[in-house]
Amino acid sequence: AKEAGRNRVGWFDPAMARALQARNELEQALRDAIPAGQIIPYFEQQIDLATGQLFGFEVLARWDHPVHGIIPPDRFITIAEQTGMIADLSLAVMRQAFHAARDWDPSLSLSINISPAQLRDAWLPQKIIKLLLETGFPAHRLEIEITEGALFENLPLAQSIVGSLKNQGIRVALDDFGTGHSSLGHLRALPFDRIKIDRSVVKAVASDSDSAAVVSAIAGLGSSLNLPVTAEGVEDIETEGWLRNLGCARGQGYLYGRPMNSANTRRLLAERRLL
Ligand code: C2E
Ligand code: CA
Ligand code: CA
Ligand code: CA
Repeated sequence: AKEAGRNRVGWFDPAMARALQARNELEQALRDAIPAGQIIPYFEQQIDLATGQLFGFEVLARWDHPVHGIIPPDRFITIAEQTGMIADLSLAVMRQAFHAARDWDPSLSLSINISPAQLRDAWLPQKIIKLLLETGFPAHRLEIEITEGALFENLPLAQSIVGSLKNQGIRVALDDFGTGHSSLGHLRALPFDRIKIDRSVVKAVASDSDSAAVVSAIAGLGSSLNLPVTAEGVEDIETEGWLRNLGCARGQGYLYGRPMNSANTRRLLAERRLL
């Protein structure tokens, strides 16, 4: 009886079988979506908190699905990472983003998210540089964002990849700082150009003195290491005021606008005479 009970929660559990089938279908659909051009870049404004000036955009992947509409990245990035599709997915998003942004105002930069899995590929710098040459987007307008998780796995390889990117003039940001495993060691292990504070810390800054203390500590750290700090997930003016006073240089979030596709981004830039 015990054995039978065990079996029931194994392969023959119908709910689990359905979940497995759904995942396989999603995986196959994603495999087709990349070459079909359905994975597209959205652009989120990044703002200088002292002047209010727009200085660039973070590129965020979306699945433009013919039936289901726009699907957010938390539904497909993990699957792409687990199945080795993330490299192709990321290059497809970058190609479109560079292509869209190359004739925007030259003051505008792009920040691109790079997965830990991509930092295990020694050819990543060459692949990115090839895309930059192909599209004519200049290296000095590109920043890549990496999370600390990426550094645990193979630090020497990550260091060599980041070194090659920096030699080409590409900047590197440490993303999602202030979450789980943040450590000072990581900040010194790689030649970062910027720290990004995670939304989970930013969102409570006006209401919770612990969060304000964390932001203040990170901003202080940034200033002593000469690393400007960007706060992500800024949703209201009160939070923006706190962040500015606590020493964050830049902000991004729904206060400034939702991430937009390239056509809408172009429209915004035309209105602001930034084309
Ligand atoms: P992230 O890099 O931390 O990106 C910030 C996320 O916060 C984005 O979600 C953005 O839309 C959202 N966000 C920005 N401002 C606000 C705000 O004011 N309030 C709230 N509630 N949310 C805000 P998104 O686009 O769903 O992306 C989720 C995550 O997926 C990203 O987190 C990033 O880790 C990953 N991701 C997105 N695109 C790519 C990609 O092309 N490659 C890789 N490797 N990862 C990606
Ligand atoms: Ca990011
Ligand atoms: Ca982030
Ligand atoms: Ca985040």
